Amino acid sequence: MAEKVFAAVATGAKQTELQEFKMPALTPEEGILRVEIVGVCGTDVSYYSKNHEPRILGHHVVGYIESIGEVASKKWGVSKGDRVAMEEYIPCGQCESCRTGVYRSCRFTDPRAGGIRYGTIPVSLAPSLWGGFSQYMYLHPNTVLHKMAKHVPAVEAALTLPLANGFEWICMEGNVKPGKVVAIHGPGQQGLACGLAAKAAGAEVIMVGRSSSLRRLELARELGMDHIINISTENLLFRVHEITAGKLVDVVLDVTSGGTAPVTSSLEITKKGGTVLLGAYKYQSIPDFNSDVIIKNTLTVKGVRGHSYQSVKMAVEFIESGQFPLSKLNSHNYSLDQVDLALRTAGGEGELSPLLVTVSPGFLG
Ligand SMILES: [Zn+2]
Ligand SMILES: [Zn+2]
Repeated sequence: MAEKVFAAVATGAKQTELQEFKMPALTPEEGILRVEIVGVCGTDVSYYSKNHEPRILGHHVVGYIESIGEVASKKWGVSKGDRVAMEEYIPCGQCESCRTGVYRSCRFTDPRAGGIRYGTIPVSLAPSLWGGFSQYMYLHPNTVLHKMAKHVPAVEAALTLPLANGFEWICMEGNVKPGKVVAIHGPGQQGLACGLAAKAAGAEVIMVGRSSSLRRLELARELGMDHIINISTENLLFRVHEITAGKLVDVVLDVTSGGTAPVTSSLEITKKGGTVLLGAYKYQSIPDFNSDVIIKNTLTVKGVRGHSYQSVKMAVEFIESGQFPLSKLNSHNYSLDQVDLALRTAGGEGELSPLLVTVSPGFLG
């Protein structure tokens, strides 16, 4: 095994640099992952854009078990050489959230509450290798892993967590089943992944975007979504009436960043008794918000965040089945010394038309 590890460390606002680390020595409860591919996520981009303690970003990680302690191997059910997709959570396993299966709510894995989570931990905390933009990653005893079949193309495997969110939000929170109509605001990586989960659940899917996301709307169609609505040129409510013969949609999900308009219009296009899922922070309140429509139409409004063990399993099985042309989402793949460009591209400030941006740390340019 290599003695030295190269990793891209986010050292300040919009700045990363390659640094060398020592390969950690392991206890029987720990492991080391050889990172194959990392999908760049919006969370990585927001960490990258701010000043903070140096850390290795990247948490949508797929790789191979490079070394593993005897206890970890038994607990995780994996051996050296296995290919795995990792969850970003490092749950305590003991608290009420963990004991009831919602370990994504465990406060020990919430960086906002001082917890630790892959891709957010400063390199000052030993053994430093907590992020995916690195040749190797440290596997903490409480790591959550899922085996991934070796036939799956790396860029498809890199979609595990966005798809897991899709299954969690659409199928488990939205209770979407065959025959339901689902509308999704925001045809980015996360919105398209949610659309795929809705298609896998047998629903009819309407993808909603703007002229600025025209290419993504076209891609939504190529991926099998039933209808697309461009709200820059079409009236949303009118088109939803037309598509659903006036019935409106069963479930709507908003994953757009920026303005609050999609939240308000989501309430308008949902049928009586339907569900509105909110999956994107707005960092602002909604002006003149009228909650009466929620009562009048007996709507359920739910905030959705993260994934469960079950939804990640569903995502892995979906990817392994090869049912959908997931590689179409792949837009940019970079080497470890291009992490800066990868983060800028994913944030809309680098190369054009980002969708699924990935880094393959095995290649150093
Ligand atoms: Zn993420
Ligand atoms: Zn816990």
